Amino acid sequence: MFLKHLSICGFKSFADKVAFDFGPGITCIVGPNGCGKSNLVDAFRWVLGEQSAKSLRGRQMLDMIFNGAEGRRSAGMAQIEVVFDNRDRTLPVDCDEVAVMRKLYRSGESEYLLNKEPTRLRDLRELFLDTGVGTEAYSVIEQGKIDALLRASPLERRTLFDEAAGISRYKARRREAERRLERTQQNLLRVGDIIEEVERRLRSVKLQAGKARSFQTYQTQLKELRARFSLAEYHRFTAAISRQDELVNADADRGLGLRTRIDRDEAHAVKLTTDADRVTESLSATENELVRATAEASGLEERIAATQRRLAEQTEHLQRSHARRDQHQARIAELTAEITRLEQHTQTLEEKARGQRELIDRLSEEDRGLARELA
Ligand code: ATP
Ligand code: MG
Repeated sequence: MFLKHLSICGFKSFADKVAFDFGPGITCIVGPNGCGKSNLVDAFRWVLGEQSAKSLRGRQMLDMIFNGAEGRRSAGMAQIEVVFDNRDRTLPVDCDEVAVMRKLYRSGESEYLLNKEPTRLRDLRELFLDTGVGTEAYSVIEQGKIDALLRASPLERRTLFDEAAGISRYKARRREAERRLERTQQNLLRVGDIIEEVERRLRSVKLQAGKARSFQTYQTQLKELRARFSLAEYHRFTAAISRQDELVNADADRGLGLRTRIDRDEAHAVKLTTDADRVTESLSATENELVRATAEASGLEERIAATQRRLAEQTEHLQRSHARRDQHQARIAELTAEITRLEQHTQTLEEKARGQRELIDRLSEEDRGLARELA
């Protein structure tokens, strides 16, 4: 088995897709500082399922996605594919080539594909156990790792030897078996608890079952007693019913007689109702008439009242006329007296005038005698 091909896209400093074909004879990659050599090693470990962002020189897994550079936008996902030549069937897959792909999106979602088919990380790890390839194995010795190995404790170094000796797979299986055993023991404990609980419940259920059985016995007895009681009651009720039937028959006969009388009375009642209707009709006609007469009477009363008012006014007027007449008569009497007095005065004055005229005549006669004498 050997590494044949590695293609990277959107991982760390590899913004665009870069593909490496490791043909025979290629032993190393060289380049200036910071050109991305170590990123290639990281890429190889990442695609095989490395979970620690720190050991890949990042703070978190999303740091593995190309983060942008001057004039370049960051990538939405990182994708790496590695292809192994498997003609010697080192990997337990029946193919000449084994391709492993890992994808990581910015949302945090990730997926693994084995020969284009989705697969679980666990199955991938299992596939590469004891091959020297893998995140914990010795095929990838990154910068500074040799130093770390030399300084490592014998126990830490043991992991590497286990992998080289091909017993990692069995150790991993043993760990898995031990884990399962532990889980089974815990389950056993839980089952013991459950059994205890079930037994406790069984005791209580047995008690309840005993109670239920006696309940059933009593229930049967009760049913029997109820049936007997019901039968006795049935006989008693049947006798009572037949007695009641006789009474009902007698009552029915009496009812028939009463029915005939009722029919007769009803016919009579119908006739009485008709009469009553007629009387009601005439009564309502009379009432109408009474209403009319009452209206008329009230009109007449109003007229009488008006006439009486007018009469009172006339009487008052008459009285005033009489008073005026009496005043006029008194005035007439006064004037008559005045006239009489004036007539008398006139007579006196006439007499006086007559005396004057006679005096004048005599004086004129004297005058004329004197004139003649004078002449
Ligand atoms: P040296 O010879 O010093 O060991 P190198 O060739 O191993 O260098 P790397 O360490 O592989 O170089 O690459 C480091 C470069 O990768 C740095 O320039 C760093 O900015 C870049 N880089 C690392 N992570 C990202 C990332 N997520 N996005 C963009 N660039 C990244
Ligand atoms: Mg480096």
